Amino acid sequence: MERVTKNVYAATDIRGCNPGYVVTSDGVVIIDTPQLPTKVVKMREETLKKGQIRFLINTEHHIDHIFGNFFFAGLCPVAAHENILKEFGTVSAGTPYSYSVEVVKKDDPEGMALMPPEKDFHLNPPTILFSHRMTLRLGDQVFELIHTPGHTRGQIAVYIPKEKVVFVGDTIFCECQTWFHAADPDAWLWSLDFLRTLDVDYIVPGHGPICNKDYIPKQSAFIREWITAVAVGIAKGWSMEECVQRISFLDRYPVDIGQESAGPMIQQRAVERIYNFLQGKGERYR
Ligand SMILES: [Zn+2]
Repeated sequence: MERVTKNVYAATDIRGCNPGYVVTSDGVVIIDTPQLPTKVVKMREETLKKGQIRFLINTEHHIDHIFGNFFFAGLCPVAAHENILKEFGTVSAGTPYSYSVEVVKKDDPEGMALMPPEKDFHLNPPTILFSHRMTLRLGDQVFELIHTPGHTRGQIAVYIPKEKVVFVGDTIFCECQTWFHAADPDAWLWSLDFLRTLDVDYIVPGHGPICNKDYIPKQSAFIREWITAVAVGIAKGWSMEECVQRISFLDRYPVDIGQESAGPMIQQRAVERIYNFLQGKGERYR
């Protein structure tokens, strides 16, 4: 995995989220897990060489961040925001297992041999939960887990002050398409403003390359552009379907690795979510 600082590692070049880990003087903390079995088993081996795995933290409930949790079951407890439990691992069609089998067949055929039989599979959800902010001290490192709702209801950032690094999960999609399908865009903008207050040199986004605080206004601007485009459509009297037909930002950024064909679906679900939100029908996360 890519070395971000002396004790922080992340992978930004694989299908799924950007998982990472932090080495402390008393073991290792994992932040999100790979979606592909060969990658998650490799990550587990790499981290075990650096110390005992003490905690696994999930930044959100979507399957691309939590599918690999299974492979850490029994090794360490899982921590996350309390709001992620209800929706943990839910997928738009089928079960988390059947959905993942399709992904693995397509993008990680060798990983099929590592998949457990369905009867043995479980999501390994978090058992350490918090509502606003939680400080985790381990060895020589401090981890601040902070609720940053927006992309999802239970979104968090994991700030490691000593390393001047923050893992922001899908609050930032760096130079790739932003997924709005479960979003409260207003809360999201608030959370991005909050991230500006952290003293960090590196941001590990949920998707795309490692960035820094210079990227925060770009992500905020992209969310505002999306809201404005749909708001203008509504002002012109367009129906939701007409907005879907006429609004797309696919020319702006590529879709993250391995999901190129999802581009039109991402646009459609973004329009629908923001349309409802602007009509007062959206869920508020703050
Ligand atoms: Zn994601």
